[in-house]
Amino acid sequence: DTAIVWFRRDLRLADNPALDHARRHHECVVPLFVFDPATESPWSPGAAGRWWLHRSLGELDERLRDRGSRLILAGGDPLEAFERIRQVTGAGAVYWNRVYEPAVVGRDRRIKQRLRDDGWETKSFNGSLLVEPWNGVKADGDPYLVFTPFWKHLQRHWQPPPHSPEPRELAPPGRWPASLDLDDLALLPDHDWPEKLAAHWAPGELGARRRLDGFTDAAAAYHDQRNRPDRPGTSGLSPHLHFGEVSPGQILRALEPSGELPAGKGRMVFASELAWREFSHHLLWHFPDTPDESLKQAFRAFPWRKPGDYADDLSAWQRGRTGIPMVDAGMRQLWETGWMHNRVRMIVASFLTKNLLVPWQEGAGWFWDTLVDADLANNTQGWQWTAGCGADAAPYFRVFNPVLQGEKFDPEGEYLRRWCPELAGREPGRIHQPLSAGEAESLGYPQPIVDLKATRRRALDAWDRIRK
Ligand code: FAD
Repeated sequence: DTAIVWFRRDLRLADNPALDHARRHHECVVPLFVFDPATESPWSPGAAGRWWLHRSLGELDERLRDRGSRLILAGGDPLEAFERIRQVTGAGAVYWNRVYEPAVVGRDRRIKQRLRDDGWETKSFNGSLLVEPWNGVKADGDPYLVFTPFWKHLQRHWQPPPHSPEPRELAPPGRWPASLDLDDLALLPDHDWPEKLAAHWAPGELGARRRLDGFTDAAAAYHDQRNRPDRPGTSGLSPHLHFGEVSPGQILRALEPSGELPAGKGRMVFASELAWREFSHHLLWHFPDTPDESLKQAFRAFPWRKPGDYADDLSAWQRGRTGIPMVDAGMRQLWETGWMHNRVRMIVASFLTKNLLVPWQEGAGWFWDTLVDADLANNTQGWQWTAGCGADAAPYFRVFNPVLQGEKFDPEGEYLRRWCPELAGREPGRIHQPLSAGEAESLGYPQPIVDLKATRRRALDAWDRIRK
């Protein structure tokens, strides 16, 4: 008999519980991907994410073909795709790995019910988290709102993450159902912006494996290097994790094969960052309106500036032309590579939400479109944390000073010189300082669009208004 494996955010063959279950319990497997942006809207993948998805699906298909199988592609309602496949192959079961985003959770519940009503066998699995949101809760069943106790809970209840090997072959059905071509999904935009991403990334399971191999040794120094945007001190695994080309369990097992928590400071701090990913998913699942609304109720009345007032500033921020060097460097790194270092994400997000008083949702939306790792849980949490309105967020009064941050975390100005070449000739000691009018003109670089001190004061005044 035949089972469908419905691939979603788990674009890998190794350590894939749904695929593993299907091939153990059924003779034949039909691997399927359904592009269903209407259901995920407004959080269907942005431009960078679509580019990644296009490449990753292509690679998954190749890897399946090497194993005597292939990837069937469909668009629209998954139920219709299952039904078409049933007619051709007689498939009677559908398996998938869970996604924890509100729209997808709702759709999957409906689909599971319909499938069962129609006599299908169906089962979903955990393919992407160390602990699922309904398990990582306090003794009274309430969700954690603070990271440290959440992380302690994870450590206290630690279980070596299960893993399953990559199949060497996959038995095909007697007859293959029809499939769309990858190009029919129209994931690539009609402009060539994403083309340059290819210079930085290798989407797919093999690319993920290479990244992980390259990071395993470096992980020992992670605690020391992770805040330095001028150095390659982090793993670069975020887009691979988002698309499930690698699982957190596989990553931890690469660092500690027994599956126990890794020893040593660097590896343990790295594990705690993976735990921040868990915490973000946990928050999104328990608070499904947070992609749009601040978790802290008081912030729903925050006196943000109005779109008509901030449009020019927002556009200067997006284009990396605010005249604040560290902010511009980050925004240009994002535009050129589809990725930005975490320290710099915090700096640019603080600048947008505090110095420019632009609602965090605008920043989250831009990141959504331009990050190859755009992830609803992590992005929502990262923005709300920096804006001060989320769970266990940075206190609102902590406004990042981009000049001091730059001097501390990019002390020689190497990161700046790389992304803002206009500034390359400035003295290293002054490179993070905004430019005077004369210097700005001679270097062809903008003057600061705001005064950092005055706008910091304005932000604190705004906060005082909702605090009272
Ligand atoms: P590493 O330092 O190597 O960390 C390993 C993994 O741990 C990451 O790949 C990621 O999955 C997870 N992780 C690390 N830091 C965090 C964190 N602070 N919160 C949650 N998970 C974390 N991350 C995304 O994956 N997608 C996003 O859309 C996203 N948006 C963000 C927006 C803002 C404003 C901020 C401040 C952070 C955001 N992050 C996001 C978190 C973090 O910046 C990235 O995960 C990290 O920079 C990815 O690089 P890396 O894989 O080299 O990270």
